[in-house]
Amino acid sequence: MTLRARYTGLIDRYRDRLPVHDDTRIICLGEGNTPLVRLNNIPRLLGREVDMYIKYEGLNPTGSFKDRGMTMAVTKAVEEGSQAIICASTGNTSASAAAYAARAGIKAFVLIPEGKIAMGKLAQAMIHGSTVIQIQGNFDDGMELVKQVAETAPVTIVNSINPYRLQGQKTAAFEILEELGGAPDYHCLPVGNAGNISAHWMGYKEYHEHGVVNDLPVMVGYQASGAAPFLRGEMVDNPETVATAIRIGHPQSWDKAWAVQKESSGWFDEFSDQEILAAQKMLTEKEGIFCEPASAISVAGAMRDIQSGKIPAGAKVVCTLTGHGLKDPDTAIGQCTAGVQTVQASLGAVEDAIMSAIGGS
Ligand SMILES: *Cc1c(COP(=O)(O)O)cnc(C)c1O
Repeated sequence: MTLRARYTGLIDRYRDRLPVHDDTRIICLGEGNTPLVRLNNIPRLLGREVDMYIKYEGLNPTGSFKDRGMTMAVTKAVEEGSQAIICASTGNTSASAAAYAARAGIKAFVLIPEGKIAMGKLAQAMIHGSTVIQIQGNFDDGMELVKQVAETAPVTIVNSINPYRLQGQKTAAFEILEELGGAPDYHCLPVGNAGNISAHWMGYKEYHEHGVVNDLPVMVGYQASGAAPFLRGEMVDNPETVATAIRIGHPQSWDKAWAVQKESSGWFDEFSDQEILAAQKMLTEKEGIFCEPASAISVAGAMRDIQSGKIPAGAKVVCTLTGHGLKDPDTAIGQCTAGVQTVQASLGAVEDAIMSAIGGS
């Protein structure tokens, strides 16, 4: 028996594929290396022969894939002498920025849309000691303000317009290729700013160009109907959806994502809030996997496209679950219409509750 070397984080693992030097101080929290879980019950319910996997990005240190990009962005910010980072965020970027800034010993400023951020994400940004600035506007307004402020203030932007973010995020594709021993046929993701779909494509193409793998996946991006600029073919001014992580009307990686769609022969599609929540519930109840609403859209989409035959029988499909379900406890509890019953602290009362649940199922 041999002991494996300790996993410290994705920069260390993919050092030769990332823009770091031997003496770069790496700011990491053990991000990446997330599980690729094969779904058992959902494919059976669909009645189709497909190989469906979820990439459980909610198991990153702060609970979303943003950590992959943030370890790179903060490492480079520190290397370049920056004392502070700034971002606009629907929640997960701010949680991640706050944690990595704390780790690095620098300041983080985060702009969030008032009242539209999930409780777990807000708690993270606050507890890590970032300066949380709530604006009376949406993500897109915040993004514009961040770009303007960064022109004069001594702060480094760590939104996905920071090129190091996408460099870090491309490593998710490397992990999938290594684990599957080749490319999946289809890769399904939620699309907000479209940085992540662009980063994945970059990763897939990099291993392809270096001859590590012979094939490339078809990239499929899903948006919430109320925030679906890629479906409308233009920017959307007042985006609305329960999936707050993708409540974005002016995607920052607009051109990149269209290039991904064309190069990979992929497509975009949209889902209502109701469909998104139904997919979230299905994953929790049928597979034991809890992701936040925005993440569930990748599975909602894969299920629909498998059922319609757009994704053919026999295909190998990976869905990225971008963030953990615990990020947004309010939406989760709101979905559980049965609620919680309260009984007397007596054996009889507990037995009755169990028996009626068994009888009722
Ligand atoms: C950031 C985020 C997205 C959207 O990713 P983009 O790169 O902006 O397209 C989706 N889901 C979750 C949970 C996120 O945090």
